[in-house]
Amino acid sequence: MDTAPPLRPVACAPSRSRGRRRPEPPAPTRTEYQRDRDRIVHSTAFRRLVYKTQVFLNHEGDLFRTRLTHSLEVAQLGRSVARTMGLNEDLVEAIALAHDLGHTPFGHAGQDALDACMREHGGFEHNLQSLRVVDALELRYPAFDGLNLTFETREGILKRCSRVEAERLEAAEPGGVGHRFIAGGQPGLEAQLTNLADEIAYNTHDVDDGLRSGLLQLDQLDDVPLFTRLRDETLQDHPGLRAQPSRRLVHETLRRMLSQLIYDLIAASSARLDDAAPATVDDVRAQPGPLMRFSDAMRHDTVQLKRFLFANLYRHPQVMAMTARAREVVETLFRRYLDRPEEMTDEFAQAASRPRAVADYIAGMTDRFAAREHLRLTGRDVFAGG
Ligand code: MG
Repeated sequence: MDTAPPLRPVACAPSRSRGRRRPEPPAPTRTEYQRDRDRIVHSTAFRRLVYKTQVFLNHEGDLFRTRLTHSLEVAQLGRSVARTMGLNEDLVEAIALAHDLGHTPFGHAGQDALDACMREHGGFEHNLQSLRVVDALELRYPAFDGLNLTFETREGILKRCSRVEAERLEAAEPGGVGHRFIAGGQPGLEAQLTNLADEIAYNTHDVDDGLRSGLLQLDQLDDVPLFTRLRDETLQDHPGLRAQPSRRLVHETLRRMLSQLIYDLIAASSARLDDAAPATVDDVRAQPGPLMRFSDAMRHDTVQLKRFLFANLYRHPQVMAMTARAREVVETLFRRYLDRPEEMTDEFAQAASRPRAVADYIAGMTDRFAAREHLRLTGRDVFAGG
């Protein structure tokens, strides 16, 4: 294919954008979504993604995905689908690069621990925190807090939201990004796509990192039909791989798996779009369910894969041991900063709501900074000795 197909009328386009909360003059050389992407890439939170855990702690090995490489993979997969389907690549890229900005150190273990610490203060949720980072916590521009991104990018970042939080957002921004969680409805196609690209990326790379780390064994994947089907197909096409170390077989199987997931997503979503025939982005938003989707058969396959990863990787004793240490670090830091806010940097120490400021401060940390702070404040290195 030499050129990208034209943008669909139901794609988000800068000319149809609901705009920024603070109106700004247009940029001379970039579209509004390119500008969003550039603001995200230059943010402090984005740079920290390189030292934040996806599943494996950041210092466990140099070959595992971090939140930064994960975000780049989501952007690559999402852009590739967007280009094929006539959706807005720049918007998908902006959402993908921002989607994990609100993640705490230590992956889901850190988020769960911080949520527990914040139980009596409104809780903690990483999607909401990603929005908070781009709306409020990045302090770079003279005229406003946050990055002042377009509605469509912010809509994509807020993938999930509780009713209570949606009402809080709605009160601050009537008809804004919280609205669909109260009134029902969907985000634009680019947001729906990025959400699925995220799922494709982590399901596939967690198998890869799981095998690479030795926490998963190749024969355990016999329980995952999506994997075995493509592994057998690979061996049929390249019988010589049987006699070689398994890395090349794993790569080729996962490469085929990524392709199948992407092709299925494009085919099923295109069919769904033809059926529903929305005319505008607002028609897409008014649909009872997402239009971007896998086929039923592929959905079934991905559910099986997720179950497998949950049981065998995310609940692996070695991962659980790290999870317990991560929880201890986050809980200890939370209590310390609550008692002694002067231990935090000034803008957090002086914030009006102390528990929320402590949560923001901890959520912004990289894995290694959190571990160093824990060592500094307690004299104990919980990660010593692996
Ligand atoms: Mg993600």
